[in-house]
Amino acid sequence: MNRQQEHVLQTIHDRDVRYIRLWFTDVIGTLKSVAIAPAELEEAFAEGIGFDGSSIEGLARVVEADMLAHPDASTFQILPGKSEGGLVARLFCDISTRDGEPARSDPRAVLRRALERASSMGFGFYTHPEIEFYLFHPSSDPHAEFRPIDRAGYFDHSARSAAQDFRRVAVATLESMNIPVEFSHHESGPGQNEIDLRYTDALSMADNIMAFRTTIQEVAISQGVFASFMPKPLINHPGSGMHTHMSLFEGDRNVFYDPSGTYLLSATARKFMAGLLEHASAITAITNQHVNSYKRLWAGDEAPSYVCWGHNNRSALVRVPALRVGKPQSARIEYRAIDSAANPYLAFAVLLNAGLDGIERNLELPDEAIEDVAAMTRNERRALGILSLPGNLDEALAVMQESELVAHTLGEEAFSYFIRNKENEWEGYRHQVTPFERDRFLPVV
Ligand code: GLN
Ligand code: MG
Ligand code: MG
Ligand code: MG
Repeated sequence: MNRQQEHVLQTIHDRDVRYIRLWFTDVIGTLKSVAIAPAELEEAFAEGIGFDGSSIEGLARVVEADMLAHPDASTFQILPGKSEGGLVARLFCDISTRDGEPARSDPRAVLRRALERASSMGFGFYTHPEIEFYLFHPSSDPHAEFRPIDRAGYFDHSARSAAQDFRRVAVATLESMNIPVEFSHHESGPGQNEIDLRYTDALSMADNIMAFRTTIQEVAISQGVFASFMPKPLINHPGSGMHTHMSLFEGDRNVFYDPSGTYLLSATARKFMAGLLEHASAITAITNQHVNSYKRLWAGDEAPSYVCWGHNNRSALVRVPALRVGKPQSARIEYRAIDSAANPYLAFAVLLNAGLDGIERNLELPDEAIEDVAAMTRNERRALGILSLPGNLDEALAVMQESELVAHTLGEEAFSYFIRNKENEWEGYRHQVTPFERDRFLPVV
């Protein structure tokens, strides 16, 4: 047992923790949880906890079903607000086969592999997501349209608003779980909110995002509302993105920063961006994994639909935020396609590998987009060489299927499982008849 594991056992003893939850994530991004008694944790550290991997989306085939979950002591966290009956703590797990090999399709392992590649090039990868979501009134009718809890808009402050109370409790709860929050505010849509997490290394951030989603859902339930991370829940209002800011560090030096570079960005940052643009269409099925994701990317509402970059241009896929001289830590680029329903481990892994590929191949960054690309005609965009992102899940899968970068990043098992799962989603969707279509065929008299 290492020092960190000993420290966890000691804390459990000192704080009288009664209940341990072991968390991990399936290929689609659903949080899984198994509870063990504190007395079992020492053995779990030593040998892992066995479970049937074939029952978890994408993890194992039935023939190689037995898997082990190994709690990662560095992720130990006592959960807030559950003290009756004793404290509850959680740890994220890495998954292995019975022989102790890391499970190839464990999303955490996928991200770890990408981070190892970055580390072999001398880089640490840091991310900072802006997570948007909606708060709705609960409804027992699954076919009813969602009813937002308010009619407020971007940055609105109202004296007594449910959303404001919600954010105050949510942020306090997140902070008490060691998830530092940088900003929170009402977003443009009615009932839509945004919470931005303070940047940290990508693996901790992916864990934090999983913890964030359940925490937000729990706080919502405790306030009699429900939280939705659906990418586009309302027809006439913006969708929920998870814009992700990224930077590479060498030790504690941000290698994206160069005081003499355009917009204070280094040549490395430009190549990283060029890699993102090169692979943007191929990684879209991962960053935007649902049929519904593509309703958000419709070329309006500040969600990107075209492959280009720009300085402070909110119609661009990759935005370079306005940076300040003398603040090297904050040099970063923002990827705007990714939505709030993505699997953060897989998404960060493909974003990182796309960027690293740009660095390795010395890719040249195309000219920046100065104008609102969504307002241009198709021909104007074509003249500037600006391609469209895939328009639906089927197109996105077709491009992904041809991508060596994505296949290599996910590994064969997760890659083929993901494609099969998403092709099923598409097949289920394509024969739906929607209210829009019925409306079109209403007799005029
Ligand atoms: N909701 C928008 C999106 O879907 C973003 C709005 C904003 O933060 N500027 O990406
Ligand atoms: Mg924001
Ligand atoms: Mg926003
Ligand atoms: Mg943003």
